[in-house]
Amino acid sequence: MPEHSEPGLPPLPYDYDALEPHISEQVLTWHHDTHHQGYVNGLESAEETLAENRESGEFGSSAGALGNVTHNGCGHYLHTLFWDNMAPNGGGEPEGELADRIAEDFGSYEGWKGEFEAAASAAGGWALLVYDPVAKQLRNVAVDKHDQGALWGAHPILALDVWEHSYYYDYGPARGDFIDAFFEVVDWSEVADQYSTAVGHFE
Ligand code: MN
Repeated sequence: MPEHSEPGLPPLPYDYDALEPHISEQVLTWHHDTHHQGYVNGLESAEETLAENRESGEFGSSAGALGNVTHNGCGHYLHTLFWDNMAPNGGGEPEGELADRIAEDFGSYEGWKGEFEAAASAAGGWALLVYDPVAKQLRNVAVDKHDQGALWGAHPILALDVWEHSYYYDYGPARGDFIDAFFEVVDWSEVADQYSTAVGHFE
């Protein structure tokens, strides 16, 4: 693996049972150890293929590998953000500059939350709150898979995984119950840190 490659699977930032009863120990174990690990492995494998092809000068499998880098890379990065933006003592509402920015860009917290929940209900992958450095504003984005519907340049600061592996074992087809549960474990202080980092990076 090239030296500049991203490190492998980061550990969960809390115990596997830490988000119960909202997300079960079983789901977090499968989700982190099997699904997230799979995206890390897929990214590394695709990067190896690209490196081998550059070395050999045979690029027949490179376009497919580039697609695998995007799919697995976005899967890896979004899962890492998803774990980080939840916490056992989460919940409540944003405070400080993030709360002010949400009110400014969405009219109110309720206006943001209703729109985010609509994205989460409809998406075939993720609902994201992103900072758009071109328009210099927050936006909600509904993503299919890990990358379809992405907004170029935007930096995700809050991620909710609505793939079926994220909730079906705990909630069955009642995705709305899982979305409600997610809001009981959102770590708004982490989201505020992500927001500050994004704004500081781009402005
Ligand atoms: Mn997932």
